[in-house]
Amino acid sequence: MSDDKRVRCDGCCFLQGQCVCRWIPSVTTRMSILVLQDPKEAQHAKNTVALLTLCLPSVERVVLTSVGALSDALKEKDPQKWRLVFPSDRAVALESMESSRLSEIEGLIFVDATWRKAKKLYFSERLLQVYDAVCFSSAPMSMYTIRKSPSAEFLSTLEACAYAIEQVSGENMAPLRAFMSSAQEWQWRKQPSDHRCSK
Ligand SMILES: [Zn+2]
Repeated sequence: MSDDKRVRCDGCCFLQGQCVCRWIPSVTTRMSILVLQDPKEAQHAKNTVALLTLCLPSVERVVLTSVGALSDALKEKDPQKWRLVFPSDRAVALESMESSRLSEIEGLIFVDATWRKAKKLYFSERLLQVYDAVCFSSAPMSMYTIRKSPSAEFLSTLEACAYAIEQVSGENMAPLRAFMSSAQEWQWRKQPSDHRCSK
């Protein structure tokens, strides 16, 4: 492979041949977002958090390479104002919350990991358990077709983030989902044929 093919776009940091800059939508949100990312997910070529941060540059992404990374990331996140998006036993569905309670929420924490790892992290980290957990009772079906999900209700982190923002703040995040579809479709088509999964 020639060096040219490894050159990355300054805008989106993907390889130039996979640049998705043309589809980045202009969206904003009043919400603060923290994504706690498993190091394995961070390396995954199809991870949606890279796409999420292109749309919403204020999203804070922390790769959990050490225990200190988690405590640093949570240090200034007030549990009165931040919620953890995680379907624990005590999690409250965002769809069922009164608007007065939704308006108290300023920030949302997501765990970007496999379900098994996310569960392990949640149950082993008291730091995470101090945040009230919220979940979805009727999230839309995932459009995330590239990677296999354990169930149809399992949303990619970008989709979960888009949906949670819509539920909490009422801001329309449809452009975010549309961007994910366009970007993934484009990048998938650009994959060398030997990188594609066999049918
Ligand atoms: Zn680009």
